[in-house]
Amino acid sequence: MTPPDTLRPVFTKTFPPAMDAGVLYISIPYRTCSHLCCCGCGHEIVTPLSPAQWSLTYDGENVSLTPSIGNWSLPCQSHYWIRASRVRWSRRYTPAEIDQNQERDRRLLAAHDREEQRPRRRASLRRYFRFWRP
Ligand SMILES: [Zn+2]
Repeated sequence: MTPPDTLRPVFTKTFPPAMDAGVLYISIPYRTCSHLCCCGCGHEIVTPLSPAQWSLTYDGENVSLTPSIGNWSLPCQSHYWIRASRVRWSRRYTPAEIDQNQERDRRLLAAHDREEQRPRRRASLRRYFRFWRP
């Protein structure tokens, strides 16, 4: 399979059992995106949307995900950004960097979970994907 260099956004409620390569499936109801690993290995990559995880930007045509996608737990260990629907490859991390990264992700998620219990003091600092309904 040729690895895709672009991802086409598809808004859906649930993800299909067999996903197509080169598609970024976006579920607003479940606040999650999914796609097949851009290296072509065929693994499904799930990126939950939350202030502590990924944020999605959609300009009506193209999508971007922030931060980058590091598939450290996969054999391919691929690392890339999705910027304006294009796959931008990033360098591989060393095992030490991967540890650091995973540790930081855990801290962010734990901090976010704690914050959910409290009033939304920092809400204005967060980046939300706004879903516009006619
Ligand atoms: Zn891969």
